[in-house]
Amino acid sequence: MTRSGADTLPGLAPWASDPARSRGRRHPEAEAPTRTAYQRDRDRVIHSTAFRRLVYKTQVFLNHEGDLFRTRLTHSLEVAQLGRSIARSLRLNEDLVEAIALAHDLGHTPFGHAGQDALDACLRDLSEQTLPETAVRWGFEHNLQSLRVVDELEERYPAFDGLNLCFETREGVLKHCSRSNATRLEQQEPGGVAWRFLHGGSPSLEAQLCNLADEIAYNAHDIDDGVRSGLISMEQLSEVELFEHYRRQALTSHPRLEGRRLLFEAIRLMLSDQVYDVIDTTRDRIAASGVQDVEAVRVSPTLVAFSDRMRERTQELKTFLLRNLYRHPQVMETTHRARRVVTDLFARYLEAPSEMPAAHGQRREQARAVADYIAGMTDRFAIREHERLLGAVLFP
Ligand code: MG
Repeated sequence: MTRSGADTLPGLAPWASDPARSRGRRHPEAEAPTRTAYQRDRDRVIHSTAFRRLVYKTQVFLNHEGDLFRTRLTHSLEVAQLGRSIARSLRLNEDLVEAIALAHDLGHTPFGHAGQDALDACLRDLSEQTLPETAVRWGFEHNLQSLRVVDELEERYPAFDGLNLCFETREGVLKHCSRSNATRLEQQEPGGVAWRFLHGGSPSLEAQLCNLADEIAYNAHDIDDGVRSGLISMEQLSEVELFEHYRRQALTSHPRLEGRRLLFEAIRLMLSDQVYDVIDTTRDRIAASGVQDVEAVRVSPTLVAFSDRMRERTQELKTFLLRNLYRHPQVMETTHRARRVVTDLFARYLEAPSEMPAAHGQRREQARAVADYIAGMTDRFAIREHERLLGAVLFP
């Protein structure tokens, strides 16, 4: 599809989230004189401690494996960029999209999914031992942890814990939630951010957009990082229809293109087309649904989406990455060591809480305090702590 220039900067669409009609903050605060509520949320996320930690947290490749691989921070920035770009075209609220995108991975443990799975297993093991601590039953889910970071764990303001973000930002941060944890959250905050996981319905279009922008971002950057690492090759990628299509397109325009520039050009074409596909499909779906405001969005099925064809071809790419990259023996081997670091640290801190900073060591619910402490760690801090406490060198 050819497009001429950017869409002119539009006002908000009637179905976009309007900060003036926000469902508000948990602790009421006066409005800022020059910024909207969602701009303020975005700013609070950027100034948070958890945000700065993202630079040393694994996306797929461990931080010490190379300086050029994506980290959680650069991934979050790419999600924000894609999200804003699509939001502007659809006249959705860019500030809300950016706030959600920058906060969506704040709850990730060190070592990516390996760390999360290990921490979840540690908590579940304890809950079988009937510890008198209810918190272990929550297990560990990174989306829920992102919400806990912005609701409780950040310590920056005199009057409340957390960042006290707007409902719409918090709703976007809680992208998934298990039914059992949604039930617990609903008890704490009736009709709040967990309600839709129990009763159905959709979040705002801005939250829906962040989910899709996340997926577009990691599919593209994992191809790039995968090839850079040498674990997958461009030849292998040619079996993926989606990638091959854009590689050929790049070669049609630039017949002598090769190597890294060919890879980048193919990824660039793919990203652009996916963005246009989402914009066109979503526009059609919004029109067909007849929604006229945010409340109608909340009772509609998901409206921000790929076309069926793009969804299918993206699924093929995801399957390829799962088989050839995320489950590559070298990645699995690192995963195995990462799980051991987290599991050993959990046992050690639980046995000796004084090894943690006092603020964590003195918390009433010890298992949850240990989980929060470990979840907040960067990869390299976790590795150092493991060496200090266990004496083993798992990542020389
Ligand atoms: Mg993400």
